[in-house]
Amino acid sequence: MPVENLEFKTEINQLLNLMIHSLYSHKEIFLRELLSNASDAIDKARYESLVNSEALTDTGDWKIKITADKDAGTLTISDNGIGMTKEEVITELGTIAHSGTLDFMRALKEKGDMNLIGQFGVGFYSSFMVADKVTVITKSVKDGTSVKWESEAKGTFTVDDAEKQTRGTDVVLHIKDDDKKYLNHWEVSSIVKKYSDYIEYPIAMDVEREEDSALDKGKKVKLVKEETLNSQKAIWLKDKSEITEEQYNEFYKHVSHDFADPLSVIHFKAEGTSEFTALVYIPSQVPLDIFYEQFKIGPVLYVKRVQIMDHCEELVPRYLRFIKGVVDSSDLPLNVSREMLQNNPHVSVINKNLTKKVLDTLADLKQKDFEKYKKFYAELGKVLKEGVHFDFQRREAIADLLLFHSTKTGKEAFTTLDEYVRTMREGQEEIFYITGSSYEEALQSPHLEKFNDKGYEVLFMLDEIDDIIFGYFEYKGKKMKSVIKGSFDLDKKDETKKAEEGQRYEKLLAQIKDRLKDDIKEVRLSGRLKQSPCCLVSDEGAIDPAMERMLRSMGKEVPKNLRILEINPGHPLIETLSTVIEKDSHSADDSIDLLYEQALVLDGNKPKDPAVFARKISDLMLEALRRSA
Ligand code: ADP
Repeated sequence: MPVENLEFKTEINQLLNLMIHSLYSHKEIFLRELLSNASDAIDKARYESLVNSEALTDTGDWKIKITADKDAGTLTISDNGIGMTKEEVITELGTIAHSGTLDFMRALKEKGDMNLIGQFGVGFYSSFMVADKVTVITKSVKDGTSVKWESEAKGTFTVDDAEKQTRGTDVVLHIKDDDKKYLNHWEVSSIVKKYSDYIEYPIAMDVEREEDSALDKGKKVKLVKEETLNSQKAIWLKDKSEITEEQYNEFYKHVSHDFADPLSVIHFKAEGTSEFTALVYIPSQVPLDIFYEQFKIGPVLYVKRVQIMDHCEELVPRYLRFIKGVVDSSDLPLNVSREMLQNNPHVSVINKNLTKKVLDTLADLKQKDFEKYKKFYAELGKVLKEGVHFDFQRREAIADLLLFHSTKTGKEAFTTLDEYVRTMREGQEEIFYITGSSYEEALQSPHLEKFNDKGYEVLFMLDEIDDIIFGYFEYKGKKMKSVIKGSFDLDKKDETKKAEEGQRYEKLLAQIKDRLKDDIKEVRLSGRLKQSPCCLVSDEGAIDPAMERMLRSMGKEVPKNLRILEINPGHPLIETLSTVIEKDSHSADDSIDLLYEQALVLDGNKPKDPAVFARKISDLMLEALRRSA
C-alpha cells in the first residue's frame, strides 16, 4: 500500500496551529492526555478479553510503558490496549473533531486565553505542544493489522502500513529542542505522580541507576531497571484520609471531562447485601448538553476494578443525571450486559443508596452553606426538580430542596415550600403559584392583584416545565394551584352579592361573548383582579400558556386552546362599558376588542392583529388629546 497523505479537518488544523505555537506554561499536560488515552485503550482491550475471550487470549500483563531515548530525542508512550484499525486512525486522529477539542476552541475564541488549555481534555493533539513530529504505530485487536500514522502538524498527516509485533499503540513524540526536559526520568515521574497516579495499570519506565557492583567490590556500575511510576491504587478504593482535595478534583476532571472543579464530592463504601464503592461528584456548572437526548447519563461502572461501562444509566435516576464519577461493585458479574443491569437487584440497591446520598448531601449543603447551594441551584435546580414529578417515593424530600422567588421574597431572596406552608395565611388550603418567563413578567401579572391585596403569598415558577411538575403536586397535604387557572373568589363574596353582580353585568357579558366568540371560551366576572380591568385565564386542567408557547416554538402541534376572559366588576372601565352597552349594545364593540387585545398583551402574547390594535390606540389617543387641546 502506498503512503497516503491526508488532510486534517479544519477545526483540528486550527487547534494544531495553536498547539505548535503554544507558550502555555503547563505543557506537561500532554502526558496526562496520552496516558489517559493509553489507559482507556487498555480498559477496552480488557473488556474485550472478558466478553470475547477468543479474540484476546494473551491477557494479564496490562501495562503502559514510557521510553525516553535521549539520543534520538524521542519520548514514546506504549500501551498493550485495543489499538486502532486504519480507518480508526484516520478518523480518530485527523478527521473527527472530538467534543473536548470543540469546547476548547469555542472557549478560546470567547476568552482568548491560552491558559484554558489546562482545563480541557484536548487529548492527543496536545502532544504537539512539546513535539514537532508525532508518530503513532498501532496494531488493532479487531483486525490484527498494523498501521503507522505520522504528522508534523502542517495541515496533513500520513498513513502507511507498519510492522508491529505486539497488540496496542506506540505514540512516539519527537521532542522539540526547547522541551528536552521531558526526556528526564524525574520530570516524567513527577508529572505521572501529579496527574496520573490513580491510573490502575502500571506506568513503567526504564531508569538508569548506579549500584554497587556485585563482582567488583567498591566499584559502581550503571544498571537499567524498570520502575513503576504510579501508585496504581484506584482513587476510589483509597481511604478518604489519604486523598487530598486536589487529587479528588483532578480525578473528577478525568472522569467528567469537565474543566471546572466539582461542587461536592461524595465518597463512600457500602457493605451488607450489596457491596460497592462509589466516588461521585456534583458538578459546579451545568453540562451544556444536559437537556439533549444523547446526553450520557450515569457514573462509570467498574466490577472489581475492571471498567465495564463508561456510563451506566441504571445507577442514578434521570433527575440526578448530572452526577459524575465511578461506582465499583463487588457483586455484579464481569460480563454483565445492559439488559441484565435493568432488573438486577444489586443495581437497584446501588441506585437507591446513591440517590439517598446525593439528596442528603444537597440537603446538608442547603442547610450549612446556602451561598454554595444557591450556586448549585442556579445551575442544576431545573434538572433536580424533575424528580418531584418522576420519583413518587422521594417527591417530598426533593421538593424540600427547591428554591422559589415569590411575591414576598424579592428578586434576590428565596423561599421554600416548607417556609411557605409554615407562614401561610390561616385557613389557606392551597399553595399558590404563578408561571411566567421571567421574574419581572410574573411580578407584573394582573393575576396577582387580589392575592397581593389579601396578603396571600404566590410562588414564581419560571421554568417551562414547572406547571407540569407542580400542577398535580401536593406538599404536606396542601395542593398546589396555579393562579392563572380556574376561578378564585378571594373576597369570599356571599351569594346575594354574586347574584346582584351577575345581573348587573348580564348584558355586557353576553355582548362580549358574542363579539369574541371565536377567540375565547367564556367570559366571566373575576375574583382575582383588583387594579386591572381584565385578564385571560385557563381552565383548571388546561395546558399552561408558557408550556404551550414553548411547544409551538419547537414546532409541535398544540390543539387550539381557547382561554377564558375575566373582567373586573369593580373596575370603572367595566362599569362604564356596561352602562354604554345597556343603552346601545353595539356602541362599544371597539372597546371590547381592545379589552381583549390588552388581556393578550398582558399575558405575554402579541395582539391578534397588531396593525388594527395600533390604529385603535392612536384613535383613542387622538380623541383624548383633542379634548385637552
Ligand atoms: P479523547 O481521548 O478525548 O477521545 P483524543 O484526541 O485524545 O480524544 O483521542 C481521540 C481518539 O483516538 C480516542 O477517542 C481513541 O479512539 C483514539 N486513541 C487515542 N489514543 C489511543 C490509544 N493509545 N489507543 C487506542 N486508541 C487511541
